[in-house]
Amino acid sequence: MNYEHLNPDKKDILIIDDMADNLRVLSSILTREGYNVRKALNWQMALTATQTVLPDLILLDIMMPEVDGYEICQTFKAWELTADIPVIFISALDDVFDKVKAFRVGGVDYITKPFEFQEVLVRVQNQLALRSARLEILKLNVELEDRVKQRTGELEKTLQKLQQEITSRQKLQSKLLDIALHDSLTGLPNRVLFIRRLENALNRAKQESSYQFAVLFLDCDRFKVINDSLGHPVGDELLIAIARRLQGCLIPIDTLSRLGGDEFGIILENITDINIAIQVAERIIQQLSLAFKLSRYEVFMNASIGISWGNKDYDRPEYLLRDADTAMYRAKAQGRANYHVFNPLMHQEAIQLLELENDLRRAVERQEFLVYYQPIVSLTTGRISGFEALVRWQHPIRGLVSPTEFIPVAEETGLINAINTWVLQSACHQLSIWQHHPVTPEPLTMSVNLSARLFSQINLVEQIDRIIYENKINPAYLELEITESVLMENTNAIKIILQQLKQRKIKLIMDDFGTGYSSLSYLHIFPLNALKIDKSFVKRMQENKENMGLVPAMIGIANSMGMSAIAEGVETQEQLAQLRSLNCNFAQGYLFSKPIEQQLVLKLLAAAPQW
Ligand code: C2E
Ligand code: MG
Ligand code: MG
Repeated sequence: MNYEHLNPDKKDILIIDDMADNLRVLSSILTREGYNVRKALNWQMALTATQTVLPDLILLDIMMPEVDGYEICQTFKAWELTADIPVIFISALDDVFDKVKAFRVGGVDYITKPFEFQEVLVRVQNQLALRSARLEILKLNVELEDRVKQRTGELEKTLQKLQQEITSRQKLQSKLLDIALHDSLTGLPNRVLFIRRLENALNRAKQESSYQFAVLFLDCDRFKVINDSLGHPVGDELLIAIARRLQGCLIPIDTLSRLGGDEFGIILENITDINIAIQVAERIIQQLSLAFKLSRYEVFMNASIGISWGNKDYDRPEYLLRDADTAMYRAKAQGRANYHVFNPLMHQEAIQLLELENDLRRAVERQEFLVYYQPIVSLTTGRISGFEALVRWQHPIRGLVSPTEFIPVAEETGLINAINTWVLQSACHQLSIWQHHPVTPEPLTMSVNLSARLFSQINLVEQIDRIIYENKINPAYLELEITESVLMENTNAIKIILQQLKQRKIKLIMDDFGTGYSSLSYLHIFPLNALKIDKSFVKRMQENKENMGLVPAMIGIANSMGMSAIAEGVETQEQLAQLRSLNCNFAQGYLFSKPIEQQLVLKLLAAAPQW
């Protein structure tokens, strides 16, 4: 068959009918309507026609010899390529025509003979239109699927990118977290991480009765001196070296943390008893006592350690750390390079201390302080040459409180500035009365203790000037007692302040001489007028009668440097005689008088005692 006349734009209709007449009639109608029409007289021809070009529609006669229409339709429907082609059955009225069967085998419509041309055309057009629509839908579906596939691909790519982004964010986040939980100088866990680990340990102890742990709180002794004298870079270098040495005393499951400044925290995990914690503390103290060889200096350093036992009854990890801290303070108080194990009584004391602090704050507001005066006796004349002002706290409930009890707290809280300035003011007021209404042939001196903390006040000298001015006193009779710790702090600044005081003719006395850390070279640098030998040395004089302990040497130092020597805590005639024999210049102590109230001072002076 020649199909070259077929127009590809025209719809192609295949008519299968064994009656040549029928074929001709149908074909001419449809051709006139603009369709390509092909004709097949039997199954064989139909097959060939279909294989050559797939028709758009098949008109199929039912009654045919050999293979009938039903069978042909079934066969086409079974093939993938032809399954979609709409089949319209044609049947003669006298055929035994089963409409139901026609639809069941896959036909879409039927036309009965003799047919109305118009009806044939409409039915053919309908089916072709339906098929076109179906094909269009199929095409659209394919396109849609393609588009979905493309979009899915794009989405996957975006997702991948997002995943990468998330991973890099997570990395950054964990890096930030790492920074937030570690100390940048030593790389050790910081306080936040330490508390977390402590919390874990505490929780574990609550769950497992066999699990026990301990907390060590370590504070370097006098680290500030290193920082101030050698500079912060050296201080930093030392902290790193300390961290390394501490790590060397521990095993990997222990946590070492820098809690801040020169403080370190340690958690000892899974230990069986407190003695293990004590052994670790001892090892640390021993290890830290060895010289640190830094890049430019060799430095000695030690630390005080507080230990608290990881009792499961603790509610919060912070309390454990607090108790280790309290124990550390106790260790420091007992002389540095020491450890101390916390016991609950200490907590009680800490609370009392807090109460004391609060009371003291109120005392400053309400001016609950008094100044007592203790005479200082000249060992040349045997008469009173002056007084030392000693503060007392008139506590509303506890009565008179000794300065040894509240001065350290006042120093720690900063309240000392207000208290000490008040004492200075009161003492200068008293001195002014003596200077304007003399009661002794020689002018009296007034000694006032100055806390080391006052020297960090920038306007200390101006304040003293103001007090001198307001009380109209001759500053040559004012004596300020400082301790060795003042000289240890920031030597240059202190030197300047002391020089300024000297220019005003104020006398400077080194108090509690011999108990601090100062070396003799310090004495040279600072413009001191007298050394006050601490009462502990005076007391020991009697125990060691042959050489009288260190007192002779101390008096010797004072004299050789052009300073006076004042002996403190003289309680017996024997001590007095010894001091006299050593040419000590002044003495002070219960032997002469205890510190007394201001009203009694005049009485004492009026009696003009002589020793
Ligand atoms: P300090 O300056 O060394 O004062 C001498 C202390 O020894 C006084 O104790 C005094 O009462 C006591 N004392 C005097 N003679 C004897 C004696 O024969 N035997 C014994 N055992 N003790 C004697 P106080 O008044 O309790 O003062 C203690 C410390 O408190 C003072 O030691 C001083 O460091 C400080 N302090 C007192 N008043 C002030 C003050 O106004 N400002 C500052 N910053 N500190 C003060
Ligand atoms: Mg004193
Ligand atoms: Mg003293």
